[in-house]
Parts: sequence; C-alpha cells; structure tokens
Amino acid sequence: MNRYISETIRKNVIKRANHCCEYCQISDDDIYFPHQIDHIISRKHDGGSTLENLAYACFACNNAKGSDIGTILLPDKVFIRLFNPREDIWQDHFEIENGVIYAKTHIGQATIKVLSLNDINRVIERIT
Ligand SMILES: [Zn+2]
Repeated sequence: MNRYISETIRKNVIKRANHCCEYCQISDDDIYFPHQIDHIISRKHDGGSTLENLAYACFACNNAKGSDIGTILLPDKVFIRLFNPREDIWQDHFEIENGVIYAKTHIGQATIKVLSLNDINRVIERIT
C-alpha cells in the first residue's frame, strides 16, 4: 500500500477542511501545534492514502485517534465506529456550546470518548 501523500493531495485535504480539524473543528490558526493529515481508516486496517480516506486533524485528535476505528460503549457493550468526516455530517453527530462538544448520536459519543474531545485543556483552547 502506498504510504506517500502527495503535496497536491495534502493541499486538497486542507482546503476541503477549510483549515479546521474535521473532528473537533478547531482552526489551524487557533492552535500551536500544526494540524496533520489523518487516515480515517488507518493503513493498519488497509485504509489508503486517497482523498476519500484522508481528513485534516489537529494534533490532539490525530494523536488520540491513532489507528482506532471505533470503541465499545457501555452499558450495552456494543461496538460503535468513529465519526467519518467523508461519510458523516458533523452537525448530525455533534453540537458545541461554550467550547464543550456534545454527542447527538452514539457515533458522536464514541468519537468524543476516543478522541478525548472534551479534555479540559482542549475545551479551554476552543473558547479562548
Ligand atoms: Zn481536533
């Protein structure tokens, strides 16, 4: 599998995301560490380096997500996949108020948990 992400693809991913993390919505202008190109389905799970499988993600989201594709939610112990910026609409799964991201669906709940979207430092970062 080709691991290389061309500069053209990289620029298209950033432009498509309007310079914002596609998971937590923070702009790359509002954060110290540079955003990264995320493989939505990681290479480990055979995800390709194509526009359809790439997302723009802040360091915190990408670092927390790693190669995860979902999680087990309690109390039902059911596997729930993570939010997929290429298939899902952010507003369908999340809402944000005063920097806190709230889940509207199980996918939103799973993504908030795995990506630690409401870590206190990240909430503060979103409101400052
Ligand atoms: Zn993020």
